Amino acid sequence: MSTAVERFGLMLARHPGSIQVVQWLMVAVYLFLLVVPAILPAPDADAHLWNNLRLFAQFVFWGLWWPGVMLITLLTGRTWCGLFCPEGTLTEWASRRGLGRPIPRWIRWSGWPFVAFVCITLYGQLISIYDYPDAALLILGGSGIAALAVGYLYGRGKRIWCRYLCPVSGVFSLLARLAPVHYRTDRAAWNAAAKARPDRSIPIRAVDCPTLLDIPRLTSAAECHACGRCAGHRNAVSLVVRSPNQELVDPASPSTRSQAVILLFAVLGIATAAFQWPISPWLLHLKLNLAAWLVEGGHYGLLGSAPWWLLTNHPEANDVFTWLDGGLIVAYMLGGGLLLGALLALWPWLAARLLRDARLPWERLAMSYAPLGGISLILGLTMLTLAQLRAEHLSPDWVPGLRMALLAFGSVWSLWRIFVLIRGSAAPQARRIAAGTLMWAPVIVMDSLWYQLFFVW
Ligand code: SF4
Repeated sequence: MSTAVERFGLMLARHPGSIQVVQWLMVAVYLFLLVVPAILPAPDADAHLWNNLRLFAQFVFWGLWWPGVMLITLLTGRTWCGLFCPEGTLTEWASRRGLGRPIPRWIRWSGWPFVAFVCITLYGQLISIYDYPDAALLILGGSGIAALAVGYLYGRGKRIWCRYLCPVSGVFSLLARLAPVHYRTDRAAWNAAAKARPDRSIPIRAVDCPTLLDIPRLTSAAECHACGRCAGHRNAVSLVVRSPNQELVDPASPSTRSQAVILLFAVLGIATAAFQWPISPWLLHLKLNLAAWLVEGGHYGLLGSAPWWLLTNHPEANDVFTWLDGGLIVAYMLGGGLLLGALLALWPWLAARLLRDARLPWERLAMSYAPLGGISLILGLTMLTLAQLRAEHLSPDWVPGLRMALLAFGSVWSLWRIFVLIRGSAAPQARRIAAGTLMWAPVIVMDSLWYQLFFVW
């Protein structure tokens, strides 16, 4: 008998028309909230998010939508991508009407998710994407146009943009690997269905998988957009509940170096630096000293401003970045973020050297920290939610406790994953204990950084 989760997957497969209606409604709402606030005047001092469209759109986009999408992906896999994402809908629509060219090799480069995430995070911080609707329109609108163009050029009704180039696909892949539900293929049933059909000369209808996945060999939820189109196919594919640690321990679902790099250097490194820099006293101190030194020396070039699409420039809001600000933000995020990533990568690398177990390379050990990465993103993104609520004099006093509880949850989950992985190693016990102890270091580092951000600065 099928479970409620399986029935939900089948329901998605049976109602593609309803899903498309929802998807195009999302496109309409998304475009409205992206474009209209950008042409409205700046809000008055007495405006609120419930009576000013600019403030409302800002809260919906960055206070609710962005952390909400991370949470939904962590809990349900990439359902946002497969069922709701406006860029996915647009790129697939363009691909159905486009040139249908084969996917070039440069698009398949596995480094794009990392590079695109870093570039969009840096650029977003430099032009203050969270604060100004013209900045949001420039970046999200540009990303949407790129998705349309890639869809028009490549694939036949597929989501080539989402699979290979979307700047957040690497992060979503990491989170989806932790989801407690996934689409599972029963290989035996899949093959049996092919043999059992009465007329073997008639091919079985193929699944219209938008991300071109090899469904019979599906071993990971990382690339699956959870669209449900394959549910029930050949009576072999179903949406099922699983352990959130299944992909970590399943040898059929290997962890790649690019995923480990995204987790350590992009999610835990550069994204953490992006959450830190606006309130970092170190950066402020350095900036004041450098500015004083430049003034003393009569070097005013770096203290000038730039167009808003290069560096934040909103004098009406008293918010203008100088070239010095821009340079320091880039240095803090790239230098500090990559340094932090390298510091975090050192410990799984050392642990793998100690274990000398071919089944446990450093990349797989590093994936133990995925829960901490997911929770870090949610903590960082909800800082904005809380700042927006504080501006409306809504600041629940249970927030600090909830933050610590979430951080503890992500840390304990990561430590549990370390234990599960290393317990299964064939290495001698002394080496396993030493490796397990080393693996604690990144958890302690990240917890200390978050504590400093929330309670010291
Ligand atoms: S495997 Fe493909 S068709 Fe099936 S749910 Fe995932 S993305 Fe959709």
